[in-house]
Amino acid sequence: MIYSAKRFFSLAKKPRNPNHRSIQKQDLEYFQSILSESEIITSDLSKYNVDWMSKYHGDSKLVLLPNSTQKISQILSYCNTNMLPVVPQSGNTGLVGGSVPHYDEIILSLQRLNKIIDYDTNNDIVTTESGVILENLNQYLSQFNTEAPYDLGAKGSCFVGGNIATHAGGKYLVKHGPLRGYVLGLEVVLANGQIMNLLNKSRKDNTGIDLKQIFIGSEGSLGIITKANLLCVKKAIEKNLLFIKTSSFQNILQIHNIAKSEIGKNLAAIEWMDSYAYKAVMENIKTAKDVFDSQNKIDQSYYVLIEINTNFNKDLVVEQFYNSLSQVEGLVSECVLAQNDHQFDELWKIRELVGSACGHIGKVFKYDISLNTAQMDDITKDLRQKCIDLGFTVGYGHIGDGNLHINISCLDKTKEQQLENQIEPYIFEWLSKKGGSISAEHGLGLMKADYLHLQKKPEVIDCMKNIKKIFDPNLILNPYKILPGI
Ligand SMILES: Cc1cc2nc3c(=O)[nH]c(=O)nc-3n(C[C@H](O)[C@H](O)[C@H](O)COP(=O)(O)OP(=O)(O)OC[C@H]3O[C@@H](n4cnc5c(N)ncnc54)[C@H](O)[C@@H]3O)c2cc1C
Repeated sequence: MIYSAKRFFSLAKKPRNPNHRSIQKQDLEYFQSILSESEIITSDLSKYNVDWMSKYHGDSKLVLLPNSTQKISQILSYCNTNMLPVVPQSGNTGLVGGSVPHYDEIILSLQRLNKIIDYDTNNDIVTTESGVILENLNQYLSQFNTEAPYDLGAKGSCFVGGNIATHAGGKYLVKHGPLRGYVLGLEVVLANGQIMNLLNKSRKDNTGIDLKQIFIGSEGSLGIITKANLLCVKKAIEKNLLFIKTSSFQNILQIHNIAKSEIGKNLAAIEWMDSYAYKAVMENIKTAKDVFDSQNKIDQSYYVLIEINTNFNKDLVVEQFYNSLSQVEGLVSECVLAQNDHQFDELWKIRELVGSACGHIGKVFKYDISLNTAQMDDITKDLRQKCIDLGFTVGYGHIGDGNLHINISCLDKTKEQQLENQIEPYIFEWLSKKGGSISAEHGLGLMKADYLHLQKKPEVIDCMKNIKKIFDPNLILNPYKILPGI
């Protein structure tokens, strides 16, 4: 059988960097000389070697879990001198294969770097080590009535450092804008072990090139993020959540437009899903409540979740918005308004569990893309049709940020590769032709590195590679990921 080029790009292994070494006895002895026993794992590494989706598998023989920046510096200095490749790993919830080794790279886990250092109450800036779980950070911040300026479904597992390294988006991007603007400072360890102190608590700092920005979203390819100064936001006083069922995708676009003009800056989040996504959750997540009594039917229904945050006049804002929607005939088929915190969480759960629900159906091929909102349903339907024999396709995502998620669950375990070949590079080429981005918020990782040319011009990729070589000349940090041919 002759495989097409696209198969090579996907789950197949990339050629191993011949300059890199595998760990040997003397390497382990060195790590034992600088780390305690509990900071080294050499057996039962399976959970570190596989990603959240069970799609990417590595073969690392060593996980290091240092508890200080200084130790990370010593580890990297040694690895760089001895040509030992390293994969930084935080909560391992990444969805593009960036956080697991491709071969037997050393896994550098940030999980012991989990101290929150301080909180500046006058300026609402938290200084934290990078291995703090997002949910734990928010629990700590609640005493100051603040929270992190972003939120995502993986909050119980992902780390602040992983979020910064991927430049995570999440559901409150509509309200707060990108995370980049809230990361005021960073401490980063470079590949040669040098500690770059870019920590900073000033909101305004126009002193030359803003180097920290280059590490935000660099997915572990340029350095290891060890500390961060993060500007926090006040918690919303009043939160409302509406879940609307409507009869067409056009209606979703119209509801979005009305929400922007009627709710304005009180619009905290707006998310949509098609009836395939809704059905996937209802059928596969036992605890999910079918608030629209859909009876798991797939039809032309679409769903939109709208969170409104206000400081006062909560009922008025919601009422005005709902009145505007009601003036358009046929726009709202049904609407549910959360009456209390429990219902608020239950409704959000329906949206946040789409990914897990798809995993129950079969191996999931997940696509996180940006495009003109008007095209979101077209591309979803197009892919559904293309994969009709092998896949169950759902469309959903952050419509407020032009970010669509398409999940295609494989219905036949023996045909996963065939399904993937049907989808890739088709979906990326579609985006390349029509504009948008092949990665909206998950990054490139291993999955999309070889498709970067569809998104960026050769001179841009060359520039990225040159930057990589300045920070990591021996290419030991997260090899085979993010950039093609590295
Ligand atoms: C249920 C679910 C929902 C999700 N929802 C969203 C969402 O709404 N928005 C969104 O953007 N993402 C989402 N994701 C994807 C994922 O949670 C994010 O990409 C997250 O930011 C990854 O954080 P992590 O701590 O798990 O990092 P990991 O998965 O461990 O690592 C991700 C990448 O960053 C690198 N890295 C990790 N830590 C560091 C560090 N300290 N220094 C340098 N490099 C590092 C890794 O090498 C890897 O390349 C979701 C995932 C799941 C499972």
